[in-house]
Amino acid sequence: MPSVDIIVPVYNEQDVLPLFVERIKEVMQDCNVSWRVIFVDDGSSDDSLNQMKDIHEQESRFGYLALSRNFGKEYALTAGLDHASADAAVVIDVDLQDPPELIPDMIAHWHQGYDVVYATRKARHGESLAKKATASWFYRIINSMSKIDIPKDTGDYRLMSRKAYTAVNKLRERNRFMKGLFAWVGFKQKQLYFEREPRAAGETKWNYGKLWRFALDGITSFSYLPLRFATWIGMFVAIFAFLYGAVIIGKTLILGNDVPGYPSLMVVILFLGGIQLTALGIIGEYLGRMFNESKQRPLYLVDEYQPPE
Ligand code: UDP
Ligand code: MG
Repeated sequence: MPSVDIIVPVYNEQDVLPLFVERIKEVMQDCNVSWRVIFVDDGSSDDSLNQMKDIHEQESRFGYLALSRNFGKEYALTAGLDHASADAAVVIDVDLQDPPELIPDMIAHWHQGYDVVYATRKARHGESLAKKATASWFYRIINSMSKIDIPKDTGDYRLMSRKAYTAVNKLRERNRFMKGLFAWVGFKQKQLYFEREPRAAGETKWNYGKLWRFALDGITSFSYLPLRFATWIGMFVAIFAFLYGAVIIGKTLILGNDVPGYPSLMVVILFLGGIQLTALGIIGEYLGRMFNESKQRPLYLVDEYQPPE
């Protein structure tokens, strides 16, 4: 029988963990595969880890991997995938926003020969107009900037064959934009659609600050277009300044100097200052990430691992 490892990142999800276990058991009992669950405890400070231990006691096919602190979802996923060993791995959120009912479908497509089966949400229920708009812009920007195609409205929820997930595991960059990494590895990919449900319980860990950083991570790790953009603006301004300089010199030679405008001077200084600071900022974003990469720290640290059986 083919085997499937289900990787579930968990951060302070005590309210929803039991619900998840029930749902996943219900769905998986009809699947003709041998399956296991690896919970990755991403440094939860509530009762989540204790619950995982209890769940493991009762049913050994639920294992858990406890990280030493909160590293963030991308790292929790990485840790989980590093510990997967089945023929395929499914990555799913614990909050039941990714309906487990889709897994049999994913498995069916995997049997048909697809290496990656990912789930794209049809609609974003219960999300503000602003969030929908920013998400849509984000996909448009990142896809126009980078050569790889990141599917719109697609989270991490997906099934990957062993071939695909070992390929992802080989990418050890510290700046981990998982959607990008998943898309980068390629292989035969299949898109499924689903309705994303509201959270079953608990609260989202995202806010606008985090989303902004996430977007920057995504763009900087898959495109250096912003750097090139800075070069283009710099060149454009330089050419313009040179021409303007020639005009001023010519004017002074012919008409003499009548102490021309302070306003135009101020505008030029402010404009150039603004552009320079922006360009420096862009360089800084990349430099900071290089700094992080160059330290070569491990991506995560494991406190305790109880493999599922
Ligand atoms: N999560 C995690 N570490 C974090 C934040 C979140 O492992 O630092 C997990 C969380 O427990 C959940 C999944 O990542 O299983 C998605 O988180 P959330 O529901 O907050 O994100 P959203 O669905 O709102 O995008
Ligand atoms: Mg969620």
